[in-house]
Amino acid sequence: MTKNNAKPKILIIYTGGTIGMIEDPVSKVLKPFDFSHLIDNVPKIKKLDFEIGNLQFDPPIDSSNMNPSHWSMIAKEVEANYDDYDGFVVLHGTDTMAYTASALSFMLENLDKPVIITGSQLPIGEVRTDGEENLLTALQIAAARNSRSDAMVTEVAILFENHLLRGNRSSKVSADNFNAFMSNNAAVIANGSWMVGDFLEDGGKWSNGFDGATVRGDVLPGNVALANNDGYQYWIPASVSAEEQEVAKAFILFVLQQDNIEAYMLAEGGVAPKLTVSEEYTATASENKLLYEYVNAVNKDTIIVPNAGDIMTSSIGNTEFGNLLPLLISGELTPEAFCAQLSVLAQETALD
Ligand code: ASP
Repeated sequence: MTKNNAKPKILIIYTGGTIGMIEDPVSKVLKPFDFSHLIDNVPKIKKLDFEIGNLQFDPPIDSSNMNPSHWSMIAKEVEANYDDYDGFVVLHGTDTMAYTASALSFMLENLDKPVIITGSQLPIGEVRTDGEENLLTALQIAAARNSRSDAMVTEVAILFENHLLRGNRSSKVSADNFNAFMSNNAAVIANGSWMVGDFLEDGGKWSNGFDGATVRGDVLPGNVALANNDGYQYWIPASVSAEEQEVAKAFILFVLQQDNIEAYMLAEGGVAPKLTVSEEYTATASENKLLYEYVNAVNKDTIIVPNAGDIMTSSIGNTEFGNLLPLLISGELTPEAFCAQLSVLAQETALD
């Protein structure tokens, strides 16, 4: 295993799936790549400066053909190589990735190193592939350590596009979107494009204080959810002053006022199970068939929250949002104007 300051040692276990496909230049047929060509397809791996070992299924398989014997092959390889590596990346087809992640999480007990499973929607050799990003991010997370040299992730997790999800709480939710995996109930470990930066920071700044256990849901995959009153700190920049944090909290309470939540839900289709909604809201919601169905599908056991992601994208949360706070404190911006400015910034960010 890596000593302090030595290069991280990561073992990639390539099982198959779309991520490993490349087009045969002559026949144009997709075929699994030979692992030794990985660096040719993802030259940026060299920039990571990791020591990378690899093992591969022979032949690589479509994940619809995975069965428990394959799960145990992966688990045994992790076990056999456990002391020699700092982390493990399993490349896997998306169709049954969540099943394998669940199985491995139960098979590999007492982990103190990361086992990160990833794949992609487009083959790694395609120009627009998501496989390159997913592989590089998975490798970075598998290597991430805090200042005490402890691994940042010590469990089986799925990394896919913007989400790092607890292995046994993940589901495939799309056959097309790059954000193809989501988690039910408190399973998001990290969320957003800023996540790798946070991983590389000192452990004390772990995801801006983000604690996945406090997240109760996210109705819009890919957005930053304002999960509950305890979860908000994670998008308030850690660098702002205590006074600015107070103002930010006051702003959140403003956003969470009943009429603001109702307006949001009518516009975006969210639901707030713990909110006793007004008659006006019910009447307006009933006019929209989809919203009506949605609202009535929720009962007291449902854990879904209003999502403020549209005005709180992570990039705004980290930069522009902090810059606007002093204006809010000095009274130059009313909460309404603050909200409006954030919305404009959010739209600009979304268009980038
Ligand atoms: N059929 C493929 C698999 O699950 C799909 C994918 O990788 O996205 O292996």
